[in-house]
Amino acid sequence: MPKILVIEDNAENMELMLYLLKSFGYRPVMAFDAATAVELALSIAPALILCDINLPGRSGLSIVRELKSVPSLRHVPMVAVTAMTMEGDAARLLNAGFDAYIGKPFEPETLRAQIAHFLGTPPASMEADTPPC
Ligand code: MN
Repeated sequence: MPKILVIEDNAENMELMLYLLKSFGYRPVMAFDAATAVELALSIAPALILCDINLPGRSGLSIVRELKSVPSLRHVPMVAVTAMTMEGDAARLLNAGFDAYIGKPFEPETLRAQIAHFLGTPPASMEADTPPC
Protein backbone atom coordinates (compact mmCIF):
# COMPACT_ATOMS: atom_id res chain seq x y z
CA MET A 1 0.00 0.00 0.00
CA PRO A 2 1.35 3.45 -0.86
CA LYS A 3 2.46 5.43 2.18
CA ILE A 4 0.99 8.89 2.64
CA LEU A 5 2.56 11.27 5.12
CA VAL A 6 -0.12 13.35 6.87
CA ILE A 7 1.07 16.58 8.50
CA GLU A 8 -1.75 17.86 10.73
CA ASP A 9 -1.71 19.24 14.26
CA ASN A 10 -5.43 18.89 15.02
CA ALA A 11 -6.20 15.47 16.52
CA GLU A 12 -9.74 15.26 15.17
CA ASN A 13 -8.68 16.23 11.67
CA MET A 14 -5.86 13.70 11.85
CA GLU A 15 -8.24 10.96 12.96
CA LEU A 16 -10.59 11.70 10.05
CA MET A 17 -7.67 11.72 7.63
CA LEU A 18 -6.40 8.35 8.87
CA TYR A 19 -9.85 6.81 8.63
CA LEU A 20 -10.37 8.05 5.07
CA LEU A 21 -6.90 7.18 3.80
CA LYS A 22 -7.12 3.63 5.17
CA SER A 23 -10.56 3.19 3.62
CA PHE A 24 -9.15 4.36 0.25
CA GLY A 25 -6.38 1.74 0.47
CA TYR A 26 -3.40 3.85 1.55
CA ARG A 27 -1.06 3.56 4.52
CA PRO A 28 -1.11 6.85 6.44
CA VAL A 29 1.86 7.95 8.52
CA MET A 30 1.22 10.72 11.06
CA ALA A 31 3.20 13.86 11.83
CA PHE A 32 1.68 16.35 14.30
CA ASP A 33 4.49 18.89 13.99
CA ALA A 34 7.02 20.19 11.48
CA ALA A 35 10.10 18.55 12.97
CA THR A 36 8.51 15.10 12.88
CA ALA A 37 7.18 15.78 9.39
CA VAL A 38 10.63 16.56 7.98
CA GLU A 39 12.20 13.57 9.74
CA LEU A 40 9.52 11.17 8.44
CA ALA A 41 9.53 12.61 4.92
CA LEU A 42 13.23 11.81 4.71
CA SER A 43 12.98 8.34 6.27
CA ILE A 44 9.79 6.67 5.00
CA ALA A 45 9.82 7.60 1.29
CA PRO A 46 6.16 8.64 1.13
CA ALA A 47 4.29 8.37 -2.17
CA LEU A 48 2.48 11.62 -1.39
CA ILE A 49 2.34 14.20 1.40
CA LEU A 50 -0.79 15.91 2.74
CA CYS A 51 0.08 19.07 4.65
CA ASP A 52 -1.93 21.37 6.89
CA ILE A 53 -0.86 25.03 6.70
CA ASN A 54 -1.54 26.34 10.21
CA LEU A 55 0.82 24.35 12.39
CA PRO A 56 2.39 25.26 15.74
CA GLY A 57 5.68 27.10 15.33
CA ARG A 58 6.05 26.63 11.61
CA SER A 59 3.79 27.06 8.61
CA GLY A 60 3.12 24.38 6.02
CA LEU A 61 4.46 26.86 3.47
CA SER A 62 7.86 26.69 5.13
CA ILE A 63 7.71 22.88 5.28
CA VAL A 64 6.93 22.53 1.58
CA ARG A 65 9.81 24.87 0.68
CA GLU A 66 12.22 22.74 2.70
CA LEU A 67 10.98 19.37 1.45
CA LYS A 68 10.87 20.44 -2.20
CA SER A 69 14.53 21.51 -1.91
CA VAL A 70 15.54 17.91 -1.12
CA PRO A 71 16.39 16.10 -4.40
CA SER A 72 14.87 12.78 -3.30
CA LEU A 73 11.59 14.49 -2.34
CA ARG A 74 11.24 17.00 -5.16
CA HIS A 75 8.97 14.71 -7.17
CA VAL A 76 6.81 13.57 -4.26
CA PRO A 77 3.43 15.29 -4.72
CA MET A 78 2.58 17.63 -1.86
CA VAL A 79 -1.05 18.59 -1.37
CA ALA A 80 -1.97 21.42 1.00
CA VAL A 81 -5.07 20.81 3.11
CA THR A 82 -6.13 24.18 4.36
CA ALA A 83 -8.95 26.45 5.45
CA MET A 84 -7.20 29.38 3.73
CA THR A 85 -9.79 30.83 1.39
CA MET A 86 -8.58 34.39 0.88
CA GLU A 87 -7.97 35.67 -2.61
CA GLY A 88 -4.34 35.01 -3.43
CA ASP A 89 -4.00 32.05 -1.06
CA ALA A 90 -4.03 29.52 -3.91
CA ALA A 91 -1.19 31.35 -5.65
CA ARG A 92 0.80 31.47 -2.39
CA LEU A 93 0.38 27.73 -1.89
CA LEU A 94 1.45 26.89 -5.43
CA ASN A 95 4.33 29.39 -5.40
CA ALA A 96 5.62 27.86 -2.17
CA GLY A 97 5.86 24.48 -3.92
CA PHE A 98 2.58 22.67 -3.33
CA ASP A 99 1.39 20.64 -6.31
CA ALA A 100 -2.28 21.05 -5.38
CA TYR A 101 -4.52 22.03 -2.49
CA ILE A 102 -7.79 20.96 -0.90
CA GLY A 103 -9.95 23.40 1.06
CA LYS A 104 -11.22 22.52 4.54
CA PRO A 105 -13.82 21.23 5.11
CA PHE A 106 -13.61 18.79 2.22
CA GLU A 107 -15.75 15.95 0.90
CA PRO A 108 -14.14 12.50 1.18
CA GLU A 109 -14.48 12.11 -2.60
CA THR A 110 -12.50 15.32 -3.17
CA LEU A 111 -9.63 13.91 -1.13
CA ARG A 112 -9.82 10.52 -2.84
CA ALA A 113 -9.88 12.05 -6.33
CA GLN A 114 -7.03 14.46 -5.60
CA ILE A 115 -4.77 11.64 -4.38
CA ALA A 116 -5.81 9.37 -7.26
CA HIS A 117 -4.88 12.18 -9.66
CA PHE A 118 -1.26 11.79 -8.55
CA LEU A 119 -1.04 8.11 -7.54
CA GLY A 120 -3.80 6.38 -9.46
CA THR A 121 -6.38 4.24 -7.73
CA PRO A 122 -4.72 2.07 -5.06
CA PRO A 123 -4.78 -1.74 -5.53
CA ALA A 124 -6.87 -2.27 -2.38
CA SER A 125 -9.88 -0.39 -3.69
CA MET A 126 -9.52 -2.02 -7.12
CA GLU A 127 -9.73 -5.40 -5.39
CA ALA A 128 -12.78 -4.28 -3.48
CA ASP A 129 -14.50 -3.30 -6.76
CA THR A 130 -13.61 -6.54 -8.52
CA PRO A 131 -15.88 -9.53 -7.82
CA PRO A 132 -13.97 -12.73 -6.99
CA CYS A 133 -13.58 -15.16 -9.92
MN1 MN B 1 -3.60 23.17 11.94
